[in-house]
Amino acid sequence: MSAPAALPKRRRNVYYLDTLEEFPYQTERNISKVKRVFVNRNLKMKSIRMIGFDMDHTLAMYNKVMIEQLAFDMTKRKMVEEKKYPTEVQELKYDSEFVIRGLVVDKVHGNVLKLDKHQYVVTVHHGKQTLSREMRKIIYTNKRPDLANPEFYSVDTLFSIPEVALYAEMISSFEVDGKIFGKTYQELFDDIRFCIDKTHRDGTLKAQILANPELYFVKDPNMALSLDKFIRSGKVLFLLTNSKLDYTDAVMSYLLNGELEQYPDWKDYFEFILVDSGKPEFFLKGTPMKPLMTKDYTARDKRLGVKRAKIYERGSSQQFEEVAGFKGEEVLYVGDHTFGDILRSKKSSGWRTAMVIEELEREIQVAERVAGMYDELDKVEELRNELRFQSNLVSEKIEQLRETKMQDYEKKSAEELIALDHEMEQASEKLNRLEHRLTQNLIKIKELQTKVDKAFNPYWGPLFKAGKENSRFGDQVEDYACIYTSRSSNFLLYPSNKYFQTMRELMAHERD
Ligand code: IMP
Ligand code: MG
Repeated sequence: MSAPAALPKRRRNVYYLDTLEEFPYQTERNISKVKRVFVNRNLKMKSIRMIGFDMDHTLAMYNKVMIEQLAFDMTKRKMVEEKKYPTEVQELKYDSEFVIRGLVVDKVHGNVLKLDKHQYVVTVHHGKQTLSREMRKIIYTNKRPDLANPEFYSVDTLFSIPEVALYAEMISSFEVDGKIFGKTYQELFDDIRFCIDKTHRDGTLKAQILANPELYFVKDPNMALSLDKFIRSGKVLFLLTNSKLDYTDAVMSYLLNGELEQYPDWKDYFEFILVDSGKPEFFLKGTPMKPLMTKDYTARDKRLGVKRAKIYERGSSQQFEEVAGFKGEEVLYVGDHTFGDILRSKKSSGWRTAMVIEELEREIQVAERVAGMYDELDKVEELRNELRFQSNLVSEKIEQLRETKMQDYEKKSAEELIALDHEMEQASEKLNRLEHRLTQNLIKIKELQTKVDKAFNPYWGPLFKAGKENSRFGDQVEDYACIYTSRSSNFLLYPSNKYFQTMRELMAHERD
């Protein structure tokens, strides 16, 4: 039998990226990293029949610093007017870098904590002051905060950032003997929580936002196009928000009305609009779902051929699934709230989840900027490991020499003993030199690590990392979000039937 003919070169190489120029499409790699969709669990868009969107911080992207500054200012005003704190509180300035998502407030001690993925406390600020390592160890060693305990408050959404910033600022500026204007740390937190909650609920914050929407929202030119792309590919779209109808209508009108000719009104993009939904309770028991059957808000259900409400208030995922006719894994929900949108929808309803993390853009940009420092850090750490290895070997050798000397000591000749002492002395000198280099190396590591951390955030370092491990937030993203990206409109860059696939997970022995 003759040997099989060699495959033509092009065919053989077809699996490699460098042959992709023969296809007319752009490659996935060409999508800028800040706009990519990252995958934690395989997700076939073909199997998704219905896609839901949260509104605030998901479809409606806020100008982060502006809205936080506004909420901070309005809350401190309420602290003075309603909770009767002294007017000096009004002078506090908002520091937009102090709070990041995933942090936890320890209301009993007046501390803000960054946790690692095992929920151990890795960085602590009392007010805005870094707590010393010693103090941190005294309070938190071997004690993982029980986050279900109301003594702790977790920053799960960008909306929580201003209140924690105000809390820390007030402790730093006004603490006397562990009290702030006579209030305990816990009382102070509760007052701030009351005031910011009221700012959201009484309409004052929203009125201010809607008076100048161009200041507070970032219009995304791709948002309408990406919704349209989903609709064209046959997906049923719905909006599911905790905001009430009047605010939802005003915000969505500002962002989407008239953006595309086929959709003059923002409501035209969605088959269902669920407002004031009460997430995360919506995904648990929920409340009765109330249809708003006005003429405007009624749509013809294409599948059932009946008229049904388009807009609903309150409700639950279960009632909604019955009305919509899709459930569980057929539904993809896109949201920003770690618990309210992502964890609950996945755990309780079995919906697939896409998390919008707007901080991702900056985190990726900074990581790219400090890539050189990371490389250097890797090298210095490799050297540290080698120095430690050598140092361990030499001290082991010294120990062995000492034992050899002591064994049958009386039987050893003077020359033998002198030779052993000499060898021990040389090994000790070597050990000293190694230890000296190791100390210098550790100083260098610390310097580099601090530089890298500060490039991300001067108080907390990277959002997704705590040292070498994932931070609590990074871990939550990995655990709860099937996919994640910096903006919902990034889906526009992908084929609508895309199979989002995970990368091969690496164990320690598989890494270089
Ligand atoms: P979603 O992200 O679209 O589900 O909705 C967020 C809604 O929750 C917005 O209307 C916010 O104003 C509101 N919100 C955020 N934080 C608070 C709070 O602390 N109390 C009351 N409402 C809040
Ligand atoms: Mg939201």
